[in-house]
Amino acid sequence: MTYPNTQLFIAGQWRDAADGRSLPVFNPATGQEIGRVAHASKADLDLALAAAQQGFATWRKLPAFERSKIMRRAAGLMRERAGEIAAVLTQEQGKPLAEARIEAMSAADIIEWFAEEGFRVYGRVVPSRNLAARQLVLKDPVGPVAAFTPWNFPINQAVRKLSAALTTGCSIIVKAPEETPAGPAALIQAFADAGVPPGVIGLVYGNPAEISGYLIPHPVIRKITFTGSTPVGKQLAALAGQHMKRATMELGGHAPVIVAEDADIELAVKAAGGAKFRNAGQVCISPTRFLVHESIRDDFAAALARHAQGLKVGDGLGEGVQMGPLANPRRVTAMAEFTQDALQRGAKLVAGGERIGEVGNFWAPTVLTDVPLDAKVFNDEPFGPMAAIRSFNRLDEAIAEANRLPYGLAGYAFTRSLKNAHALSQDLEVGMLWVNQPAAPWPEMPFGGLKDSGYGSEGGPEALEAYLNTRSVSILNV
Ligand code: NAD
Repeated sequence: MTYPNTQLFIAGQWRDAADGRSLPVFNPATGQEIGRVAHASKADLDLALAAAQQGFATWRKLPAFERSKIMRRAAGLMRERAGEIAAVLTQEQGKPLAEARIEAMSAADIIEWFAEEGFRVYGRVVPSRNLAARQLVLKDPVGPVAAFTPWNFPINQAVRKLSAALTTGCSIIVKAPEETPAGPAALIQAFADAGVPPGVIGLVYGNPAEISGYLIPHPVIRKITFTGSTPVGKQLAALAGQHMKRATMELGGHAPVIVAEDADIELAVKAAGGAKFRNAGQVCISPTRFLVHESIRDDFAAALARHAQGLKVGDGLGEGVQMGPLANPRRVTAMAEFTQDALQRGAKLVAGGERIGEVGNFWAPTVLTDVPLDAKVFNDEPFGPMAAIRSFNRLDEAIAEANRLPYGLAGYAFTRSLKNAHALSQDLEVGMLWVNQPAAPWPEMPFGGLKDSGYGSEGGPEALEAYLNTRSVSILNV
């Protein structure tokens, strides 16, 4: 199966780094080098910045109607190319081909939703105190954006940022993940083929800290958007603050799953178990702390363990594979540490808990029960295929535990009681709550976190607001 090398995309052209540097890309299922990605230096970034400034001047002058047409064409190209893009994505990231295809197809839905929402960037006419004056509230694109996207959903994490920027009339430089570069490159190729003018989109790779350290303070850049870990997000938000740049931060999570006494256990296992092991748990909204009513804890743990053990793990390109390898060797080391720590503190292992094979980054879907509160897995984001179960007695105890951590991204709950559902919707400190269902992060719904999980939204009309300036204008008729 072929895998392309990835170049930088600057001023509408694919090019190698000015100094010729590149980095290797590895297949996480085999550990083999499968290609290279260009490594940008400051000279490349300067070109990208000049192009973004130029691109912004062109793009913001295009009517929303024209921008929308181009974006819809890009969506169509993503659908046409979903099969070949999925094969590339699976080779670099590891996720099963079916999941990779869904990622490419859902990128098209996201682009289309944003393309339509761009028509609804309304200002306001505000009644004036002086009838000879007309008071207007105007919305304008904020300007060139610097976006930093991670390796877990190489296309999905980039497309929300790209679509929000493009539909509002901003240009954007994407620093995409060096570990999974070809997926984002395919997405940007679709936009370019659809007719996005040169300079409106830039794509760079290299040393993440060097690139963010150069782009964020740069006067051309007016907005930052980052998806990744909470520690890095705090650093980048601080830098953005120092330079008075707008910022959206989509950071780590540690999603609680509250399974109440009256829950449909089968549904809870299917929905939360499915969400847990999707993309081998490397998902910011992945369910992690399973808080299960004590009367059903054993049944639930046994059912979740059966679900985990029944998953077919292997190379994402393989027939019927449901869970691929972890995206990089760092995650395998982390899984071993989380497991060992939990067991030492008295947790019980009911599924997985070990590496699979010697080749590739495979980790068995893992379920731990009776996990003590001080276990690392109950406090730090595991970002891997690991479910940790504890029991609770009263719902308010479960809510207090859910809110204990500084994270506040996603939450899940299973209950047949309206009273419980109301209490959860009022008291859980999460940006997104899904009751009796798997995650449903549709583009029309806000997507973002509270507390240390970040700020701003990557879905719904709020996602566009983050790319807009609001101005007040009053015109007096003299
Ligand atoms: P990491 O914290 O080093 O990196 C996380 C992401 O941030 C990567 O994409 C990386 O390229 C980028 N990054 C790191 N330093 C940066 C900097 N100074 N400037 C700009 N970008 C920078 O960790 P990692 O090992 O790559 O990933 C592991 C952790 O990252 C996970 O435990 C998880 O918490 C988090 N993560 C979260 C998401 C998400 O969707 N929110 C995605 C990927 C990783």
